[in-house]
Amino acid sequence: MPIHVPVHAGSTAKGVAAILLTIAIFVIDALTSLGIAIAVLYALVIILGAASLDRRGLIVVSVLCVVFTLVAFLFGHGDSFDTDAAIRCAISLCAIVVTTLLSLRNQEATLQLKDQAALLDLTHDAIFVRDAGDTITYWNRGAERLYGWPAEDAVGRKATELLKTRFPLELAGLQADLLETGRWEGELIHTRRDGFELTVLSRWSLHRDPHGRPVATMEINSDITERREAESALHRAQAELSHVSRVTTLGELAASIAHETNQPLAAVVTNGDAGLRWLSREPPNIDAARMSLEKMIGNARRASDVIARLRALARRSEAEHLPLDLNDVVDDTLLLVQRELAERRVDLNLSFDPSVPEVLGDRVQLQQVVINLVMNALQAMDNAGGQRRLRIATRRETPENGGGAVLEVTDSGMGFDTDKAGKLFAAFYTTKPDGMGMGLSISRSIVEAHRGQISASANEGPGATFTVRIPSPPAGDQ
Ligand code: ADP
Repeated sequence: MPIHVPVHAGSTAKGVAAILLTIAIFVIDALTSLGIAIAVLYALVIILGAASLDRRGLIVVSVLCVVFTLVAFLFGHGDSFDTDAAIRCAISLCAIVVTTLLSLRNQEATLQLKDQAALLDLTHDAIFVRDAGDTITYWNRGAERLYGWPAEDAVGRKATELLKTRFPLELAGLQADLLETGRWEGELIHTRRDGFELTVLSRWSLHRDPHGRPVATMEINSDITERREAESALHRAQAELSHVSRVTTLGELAASIAHETNQPLAAVVTNGDAGLRWLSREPPNIDAARMSLEKMIGNARRASDVIARLRALARRSEAEHLPLDLNDVVDDTLLLVQRELAERRVDLNLSFDPSVPEVLGDRVQLQQVVINLVMNALQAMDNAGGQRRLRIATRRETPENGGGAVLEVTDSGMGFDTDKAGKLFAAFYTTKPDGMGMGLSISRSIVEAHRGQISASANEGPGATFTVRIPSPPAGDQ
């Protein structure tokens, strides 16, 4: 929709010019006999007047022009009838009338356009139109309110410069999109007159002339700064919660962790003692002492490995998006829950598909999901009694389902009623006396932040299966 509202700057100057022109025409017409229809120039007066006068004013001016033409004619040729002069007078009168009619029509069309444009002032959205050279030609009231510049200051300025627009993508790609489809929609950063940065949802529509050439773009912008801020606050709160839950889980795993670190540390001492003994022999057994030292180093590495993993889980850090092998993530996590599995005599069946595709994600967060699922499975099996069987499998999703990475945790626990499947992931839903009901809810947020899905299903036999699907990153994202 083209909106070209005339800019009225300089209308006073035009009024003055019109008056001076009228006087000059009248004087020349009345006092000289040039033999040309000088009064035709009154048409110019009408054109100048049309820019600043309303309908009635324009009619008054044109009547005055007619009167001045007749007075000048009578003044110059009143005593003797001159046919040529009469024809010149008639031509001038015709020119005045035709110009007046055209100007009135033009004025009416402009008024109609202004009325239509005024409708755009009713919306809360900021709407502006910029021409092919990015110069603003229309600026509605919503834009005045949102950005702080009145229309007089904004019209005529380059939109991108005025609003210091920051684009999410290369501007060239965005323009190509606009030219191809005629529209574009996305988020932009605009700077208000007072320097405050706004996030706006921007919708662009391209207007073309009858030859298909792009002549203007209409932008409709709605302020989503608050919504975005609320979303990032929510995101921060989720990250906090997920961190707290991670640390809580580590507390639950304290016994395992103590064992996982104590055991290699005790082995370091044992190997150290043995090494000393080999060295104090006569003659010292260097080879055996070296072997003891090597075992010491191996055990110290194991302990420091566990501690490094614990520190990563306990740390509060920004989520990363790095290429990850899901098999490694599961493997790393098992180290922390190994003792829980051993103590409960869990029959663990690991099935790692070596062809599982890499995913883009945060190692610590995905480890948290695996720990949650494994701990839940262990607790479900505690409650069920009977044989404890836990299967952790990774596999590549079938191509028709997007070919991402899949993790399945299947237990032989108490399972759940199928009508409860939807509830399991709700925050605070728990069936455990000391449960918080946050583990699965946090796991779901994490998986969804990885653009994936998590679901639960009851096994045909005893127990439940939890499935996590994470899509492969789109080509070029890695
Ligand atoms: P919490 O473990 O604190 O209860 P979760 O969000 O981890 O919180 O789990 C919510 C509920 O989902 C559990 O209380 C339990 O009823 C059910 N649930 C989770 N995992 C399993 C599982 N492997 N087998 C059966 N039920 C489960």
